[in-house]
Amino acid sequence: MKKYDYLVVGSGLFGSVFAHEAKARGASVLVVDKRPNIGGNVYTEKVEGINVHVYGAHIFHTNDRRVWNYITRFAEFNRFTNSPVANYKGELFSLPFNMYTFYQMWGVTTPAEAEAIISEQRVEIKETPRNLEEQAISLVGRDIFEKLIKGYTEKQWGRDCRELPAFIIRRLPVRFTFDNNYFNALYQGIPVGGYTKLIENLLDGIEVRLNTDYLEHKQALDMLADKVVYTGPIDAYFGYRLGYLEYRSVRFENELLDLPNFQGNAAVNYTDRETPWTRIIEHKWFEFGKDEEGRDLPKTVISREYSSEWKPGNEPYYPVNDRKNGELYEKYRQLAEKEDNVIFGGRLAQYRYFDMDQVIAEALHCCDAELD
Ligand code: FAD
Ligand code: UDP
Repeated sequence: MKKYDYLVVGSGLFGSVFAHEAKARGASVLVVDKRPNIGGNVYTEKVEGINVHVYGAHIFHTNDRRVWNYITRFAEFNRFTNSPVANYKGELFSLPFNMYTFYQMWGVTTPAEAEAIISEQRVEIKETPRNLEEQAISLVGRDIFEKLIKGYTEKQWGRDCRELPAFIIRRLPVRFTFDNNYFNALYQGIPVGGYTKLIENLLDGIEVRLNTDYLEHKQALDMLADKVVYTGPIDAYFGYRLGYLEYRSVRFENELLDLPNFQGNAAVNYTDRETPWTRIIEHKWFEFGKDEEGRDLPKTVISREYSSEWKPGNEPYYPVNDRKNGELYEKYRQLAEKEDNVIFGGRLAQYRYFDMDQVIAEALHCCDAELD
C-alpha cells in the first residue's frame, strides 16, 4: 500500500485543478513543485499593495461556460478588459487591430475605407497563407504588419515571421468596429486579490512540498503514490533522450517606482525591432490602481519583458509549435503513452500553447476520465 493515491508534479493550474478534484472525490494527494512558490506561471506576489504577476501578465478570458463557472468558485473576478497600447518608435496605436488602429494608421473613419485599404494591400498574398508573415498581411495588410507585427513577433519568437506558423497571429482579433478589447471572450477578468489566492483555495487541505524537483528524487517520490500526474516538460521527463524541444524563455526586469502612474495602461507593447524589450507591464492597472479596500495605490511596479531562446536551466515559457518541434513532441508523446501510471498534462507536458482556460478544461477532462 502506497501512502498517496496521486503524486501531482507541478502546482500550476493543471496540477492544482487535478489535485482539488482528486481530493474532492476522496483520493489522497501529494503535490510537489520545484519552485519556491505554488501556482506555476500564474503566481502573483504582493508588493506595496500591488499584485505583481511574477511570471508574466495573466489575463483570464474564456468562452467556455463550464470553465468560467468552475474557476469562479475559487476567486471573485474583477471586470478588467485587456486593451494594450502599441508603441512604434513613439507613435501610439490601439490593439487589437480595430477601427481605432485603422484610424491611427491611415486616418480612415469608416469600416468601408479600412476594408478597402486592407483589400488593396492583401493582393500580394495570392495563395493560402503558409506562414505568419503571409497570414498577417492577408488579415491586416502590409502597413500594419510592418509597424505592429513584424518587429514584435521577431523579438518575441527570435525567428523570422516567414518561419513561424500562421496560427500564432490568428490568436489576435481583427475587427471593423471601434472596440479595443484584446480578446473575443464571453468572460474576462482578473481574480481579486491575485492568482495566488485562487491557487491556495484550489489546494486547500492538500499537502504541498515546494522546492522539490520530482526528476531529482523520482525513485523516492514514485514509492509514495500509485499514480503520477506530471505537468513539467515532457522532454525533461525522458532525460531529453530524443533531443531537446525548443521553448522561448522570458526575462523580467522589475522596478518599483515612487510615482502613482508610469504609463497609464496595464500593457504597452514596443513593436519596433530596436527596443530590446517586447512590452512593459504596469501591474496595478489589472486592479484599476486600487487596493482591496478601494484606496488609490501611491506607488507602481513595472516589468520590462525580454524574450530569449530557452537554454537548459532557464524557465521554459512558450513551446515553439513549428513542424520540427511538433515531430519531436510526437515521438515523446508515444513514449509517454507507454509509461504506466503516469498522466502527462498541461502546457509543458503536452507541449501546447494553451491559455489558462484551456489548461483548466484539459485538467477537468482528465479528471472526468481518470476519477469518475
Ligand atoms: P505551469 O504553470 O508552467 O506549471 C507547471 C509547474 O510544474 C511549475 O510550477 C513548475 O515549477 C512545475 N515543475 C516543472 N517541472 C517540475 C519538476 N521536475 N518537479 C517539480 N515541479 C516541476 N494564459 C492566459 O489565459 N492569459 C494570459 O494572459 C496568459 N499570459 C501568459 C503570459 C506568459 C509570459 C506565459 C508564459 C503564459 C501565459 N499564459 C496566459 C498561459 C498560462 O500561463 C498557462 O496556460 C498556464 O499557466 C499553464 O499551466 P500549467 O499548470 O500547465 O503549467
Ligand atoms: N503580436 C504582434 N504584435 C503585438 C502583439 C502580438 O505581432 O503587439 C503577435 C505576436 O506574434 C504574438 C501573437 O501576436 O506571438 C499572439 O499574441 P498574444 O498576445 O496572444 O501572445 P501571448 O503573449 O499571449 O503568447
